[in-house]
Amino acid sequence: MHLIFLLLLLFSPSVSASPSDRAEAIKEHLYEFCSYPEDSLVYQAIHNVLQRMPYDDFVYVTNRQRPIIFTEFYDAGTARFASSSEFFVTPGTPPCCQEGFTLIKLGMGLGLAKTTAPIEGVVAHEIAHRVLESIKKGNIDCQEEKAANDLIRKWGFKKEFKEASRLFGQKKGDPAGCQERKR
Ligand SMILES: [Zn+2]
Repeated sequence: MHLIFLLLLLFSPSVSASPSDRAEAIKEHLYEFCSYPEDSLVYQAIHNVLQRMPYDDFVYVTNRQRPIIFTEFYDAGTARFASSSEFFVTPGTPPCCQEGFTLIKLGMGLGLAKTTAPIEGVVAHEIAHRVLESIKKGNIDCQEEKAANDLIRKWGFKKEFKEASRLFGQKKGDPAGCQERKR
């Protein structure tokens, strides 16, 4: 009896890996851990990246023990001084964050984008830092930036990376830019 059950489990197609199941898992994750509304371009971009990135990495970054939390970051208006985001826990959901969490702060400047693609480039880059554990390793330097960009190209976000660079890329002379520090 148990053996039959086990065999069924082994031979059934990997349930959690099917695209529609992943979409459902993403929806649940973002319901809890994303402060952007579902109808926003940023939400859709996050959804697309989580859907398209490699499955193992997706599971790693949405693990409830240490989830990625997506929130907004204001650089204009009164909210540039301070703002709050609220995350709700519904009754019955398992506890989260026993091992911490990653906060991805997405700036209002992303509103420059008229499609999700450039935002996907930015979101994928930030998620790549988590997969590479760039922050745990220490300060994010140019080498880590390059590693994150290489990883998202490997994931298939070549076009999105290009669009993000074109729209949000570091300008020459920007003191925070890697080009500047390389000289
Ligand atoms: Zn970076």
